[in-house]
Amino acid sequence: MYCEICEKRVKNREGVVIYEDDLVIAMLRPKQVTKGKTSVYYKKHAVKFSELSDEERNALMNSVVKVAKMLEKTFKPDHMNYALMGNYWPHLHWHLIPRYKDKNKDNFFFKDGLEYPILGRMIQGKFDASKEELEKLAEEIKKN
Ligand SMILES: [Zn+2]
Repeated sequence: MYCEICEKRVKNREGVVIYEDDLVIAMLRPKQVTKGKTSVYYKKHAVKFSELSDEERNALMNSVVKVAKMLEKTFKPDHMNYALMGNYWPHLHWHLIPRYKDKNKDNFFFKDGLEYPILGRMIQGKFDASKEELEKLAEEIKKN
């Protein structure tokens, strides 16, 4: 069965990588609904979080949190959302969404002044960042 995440993200590394270890690969996504929005992909194909062993799940979450800490250190958001859905691409991956109370703080990606955009807005494609913008952000994040 074809899996877009296995093929495009894990195997072909399509995207701007900010972190990688044995378990995960983390990439800034073009749809920067908030500054620093990142997807963290489990490198093995798995769909259900509940299917992992306790050891696998704990190790995986340590990696996800490691990426979240890099984003927090870089962007100093007021809050961090961890979203695990897999409705569209059934392969374990987290959406890390830094949240900012002040819509004027480092928010060049906000188009509508939505400091707390709802998840549905993430797929509307109006927040696309250029590859150059993403690579610039990636350099900042990798320092942390
Ligand atoms: Zn997959």
